[in-house]
Amino acid sequence: MEERQESPATVLITRRETFSAAHRLRNPAWDDARNERVFGKDARAHGHTYTLEVTVKGQIDPDTGMVLDLRDLRDLIRRLIIDKTDHADLNADVDFLQGQLPTAENIVVACWRQLAPALGSGQLHRLRLWESENNSVEYYGE
Ligand SMILES: [Zn+2]
Repeated sequence: MEERQESPATVLITRRETFSAAHRLRNPAWDDARNERVFGKDARAHGHTYTLEVTVKGQIDPDTGMVLDLRDLRDLIRRLIIDKTDHADLNADVDFLQGQLPTAENIVVACWRQLAPALGSGQLHRLRLWESENNSVEYYGE
């Protein structure tokens, strides 16, 4: 192969996974009337099919032509997030959501804290959590 002078390019790659889960938005410190006022129908148990987009940033490895193996990223997301959240009650069943109101905002931050330590330093670039077709939240870390 010819000698290359350029340093490896940095690219973003994204893996998308989905999970279906139930939750209710209810602050236990408030009475029912205040919960109904703030959260409306979402104070009652209901479900979503969530889509989590995980974007990793890194340099292309000159030997593999990849930043990382997308199968490894898929397996990591499934082990740390999907296996725990799919068909779960997000208010009760998920270890990394204990004690948190399971809004999309809190879920995406909790997912970040699950995934970031399992990836190489600085690799996790963005999480985007879709709660419905029209509503999503994004997180880029602290
Ligand atoms: Zn909801």
